[in-house]
Amino acid sequence: MRYFSTNKQSLPVSFAEATIKGQAPDRGLYFPESIPRLDEDFINRIPDLPAEEIAYRVIAPYAGEEIPEEKLRQICRETIDFPIPLHKLNDQVFSLELFHGPTLAFKDVGARFMSRCLGYFTRDKADKITVLVATSGDTGGAVAHGFYGVEGVEVVILYPSGKVSPVQEKQLTSLGGNITALEVEGSFDDCQAMVKQAFADTELTAKRFLTSANSINVARWLPQQFYYFLAWKQWADKENPPVISVPSGNFGNICAGILAMQSGLPVRHFIAACNINDIVSDYLLTEELKPRPAVPTLSNAMDVGNPSNFVRILEIFGHRFPDLKQQMSAATITDAETEETIRALYQRFGYLADPHGAVGYLALERYLATHPGEKGMFLETAHPVKFPEAAERNTGKPVAIPVPLQLLMQQPKKAVRLMPDYHLLKDWLLQ
Ligand SMILES: *Cc1c(COP(=O)(O)O)cnc(C)c1O
Repeated sequence: MRYFSTNKQSLPVSFAEATIKGQAPDRGLYFPESIPRLDEDFINRIPDLPAEEIAYRVIAPYAGEEIPEEKLRQICRETIDFPIPLHKLNDQVFSLELFHGPTLAFKDVGARFMSRCLGYFTRDKADKITVLVATSGDTGGAVAHGFYGVEGVEVVILYPSGKVSPVQEKQLTSLGGNITALEVEGSFDDCQAMVKQAFADTELTAKRFLTSANSINVARWLPQQFYYFLAWKQWADKENPPVISVPSGNFGNICAGILAMQSGLPVRHFIAACNINDIVSDYLLTEELKPRPAVPTLSNAMDVGNPSNFVRILEIFGHRFPDLKQQMSAATITDAETEETIRALYQRFGYLADPHGAVGYLALERYLATHPGEKGMFLETAHPVKFPEAAERNTGKPVAIPVPLQLLMQQPKKAVRLMPDYHLLKDWLLQ
């Protein structure tokens, strides 16, 4: 498969090059030159196939020419070696739980797949590759765990001191090995500025092979299709495909779902469930995408004012607005409604949702209220324990901490402290 840039100024590249580069030189996003059509026999046999086989069949058209079958199967196996259960709330509503991975967030799937592809593609390079990222929270943990122990890859993560949650900090700093956490005495913006400067510094990049693990990377984006297929495997009513509600920020996750549907996965409809950062809702009304600064909310992983992956959704539909509107709608959920929904879910079903999942649930409930006879699922994108205050406020009791997390919190923190000065970062990278 070749990948073209959505800005159409850079040349098409292979899967390997798209994975190593991340973003196209013209600052566009890489997009597959064709969307594979999975054969009907495969779709029909999904309930009987092992998860690893499903993942392999889905990703092979995208990466199979460049990674030998055995290796790609192994990467798939390691990517989804944790449960992804479809939890029933009632006859109409299910929760697809994506938070059972090592950092308790769905980003584990993309990060694990990408890290292993990158390790494979750089296996013969004499120089080690360095993944350099700035994080304000969950991305860093997923990247750290995804790349931990991957040979030939060093990971350097910058995070703002005192500005990530204690769990997030432990997820970044407890691993060691090929993962180094740089604790910057500044803000997330300082971290991001230092990383940007490093990528632009040709003296540095001549000496150290740098890449990013950004969420727009094709090797993080495409494997997110896996769990939509695994949800279908567990979906009982095959005559009545699900409406799928996806808590959305940068729109990578929902875009992977829509891609899966275009490849033949049965889906009734997609809902982009947003908090008040809802420029896509406005787009669906006006056909105009107007980015605006993000506003902080309870579902903070979705506080995005200019969703980077939205251009890929436009690309899937060939920029045909009526087609897009038919397959996808959007909902806006306020923080007050999110809190109320966490409470209601707990009271009605004994189900504890995190703020992102609650946004997804309420968007689905509203849609189903006006579409009788349909049923659906919302993606539960983070473990509720990651947002303990919201859980405690709305259930009246503290959340139980899962054992792996208790063990994590006992690990010593390993971090290198750094002032927010690019030259210090450069010296450190060159030492
Ligand atoms: C990243 C994230 C999202 C948003 O996903 P996108 O692919 O950016 O739309 C939603 N929920 C959680 C918990 C996340 O970490």
